[in-house]
Amino acid sequence: MKITDLEAIPIEIKQTMPFATHRETMEARKYVIVRVYTDQGIIGLGEASTIETWGESQTSSVYSINEIIRPIIVGESPFHLETILARMDQALEGCQYSKAGVEMALFDIMGKAVNKPVYDLIGGPYREWVPISRSVGITDVEKMTDWALMLKEMGTSTIKIKTGISGDHDIEAVHAIRNVIGEETSIKVDANTGWKVAKEAIRVLNAIEDCNIMLAEQPVRSWDLNGMAEVTKAVNIPIAADESVWGPHDVISIFEKRAADILTIYLMKAGGISRNREVACTAKAAGFSCLLGGMGEMGIGSAANIHFAVAIPNLEYPADLHIPPFLLEDDIITEPLDYSENGVTAPKTPGLGVELDEEKVEKYRIDK
Ligand SMILES: [Mg+2]
Repeated sequence: MKITDLEAIPIEIKQTMPFATHRETMEARKYVIVRVYTDQGIIGLGEASTIETWGESQTSSVYSINEIIRPIIVGESPFHLETILARMDQALEGCQYSKAGVEMALFDIMGKAVNKPVYDLIGGPYREWVPISRSVGITDVEKMTDWALMLKEMGTSTIKIKTGISGDHDIEAVHAIRNVIGEETSIKVDANTGWKVAKEAIRVLNAIEDCNIMLAEQPVRSWDLNGMAEVTKAVNIPIAADESVWGPHDVISIFEKRAADILTIYLMKAGGISRNREVACTAKAAGFSCLLGGMGEMGIGSAANIHFAVAIPNLEYPADLHIPPFLLEDDIITEPLDYSENGVTAPKTPGLGVELDEEKVEKYRIDK
C-alpha cells in the first residue's frame, strides 16, 4: 500500500461558552482536518488541534502539511511510520500539531487495513474505560462556582479549575468552589504557568491545601525547572508538569531535577501517538504517573486521544478529554463518541472508528 495524496482542511467551530485561562479567552476553536489517500482506496483521517498560544497556528499548519509534509510522504507505505516520522522531523523543527495530525491519519489507515481499532496497534485495551475530568475557566468567583455546580450536576466526579490569573482570586475561587460542590467531587487546579515564580505558587498552593486538591498543574514558567522543583519540594499538593513537558528529553530533565510528581502529556504536544508513547515510556522508566491532556480536539482528535488513553498503562489520573460534547457547538463526525457522565470508551470499529460528516465539513471549513 502506498500513500497517493493528502489534504489539509481548515475548520473553525464556535464554543458553547467562552473559556478563559490566564493567557487568553477562547470563543471558537481552530483545527486542521487531515485526509491521507492510498492506492488501495483506504482514506485515513487525522486532526491537528492548533492553538497559536501553544505553538502552532492553523494557517501555518495547513502550509506545513500541504507544502512540506505532502511531498515527503507521498509514495511511502503508511505502515513505514518511523521513516515518515524521521522525514517529518528532518523537514520541520517543532510543528508538533501538524505531525500529530498526519500520523493520526496513518494510524487510521493501518487500523482499517488490518481491521483492528487503533488501540490494538499500540498495545491493546489495557483499560476498557477512560475516566475524564471537566474544566471551569477563569471568570469572576460567583460564575466559577455556578459553573462548577453545573458540572457536578452533570455527574462530573473530577473538576479542573483554571487558575493563575492572580493568587488571591485563585485562593478565593478554589475555596468557594469546594464549599459549593462538597467533599465527594475531586478537584484539580491548573495555573498554566500563571503564578510565574515559586514563591507565589507556594503561597497559593499552601493556602488551598485545605481544599483537598488532587494535583496542581504547571505552577510556574515552562522553562523554570528549578522553580518547579522548589514548589514540588515545598508543598503537599502533588505537582504535575504540563507546559514543561513536550518530549522524552523533557521527562529526563524533570526527573533529574525532581521538578514534578506527575506529568501531563498530549498527542498534540509530543507530535502524535508514537511520539507520545515514547514520552509515556520514558515517564514510566523514570517512575512518573501521567495524565492525558487535551487541546480541545474535535471528534477525530478525541478518538485518537481515547485510543491512546485506553492502551497506555501509566495514565493514572482522569484525562482532560471533555471538549466535543461539552464545550463545542458542533462536531464534524457522523456518530458522537461514547461519553458517559465520568468517562469515555474507545470506538471498537477499525482504525480510529470515526467518520466525517461531509456536510458539516463544508459548513465549518474556512477556506471556501
Ligand atoms: Mg494544563
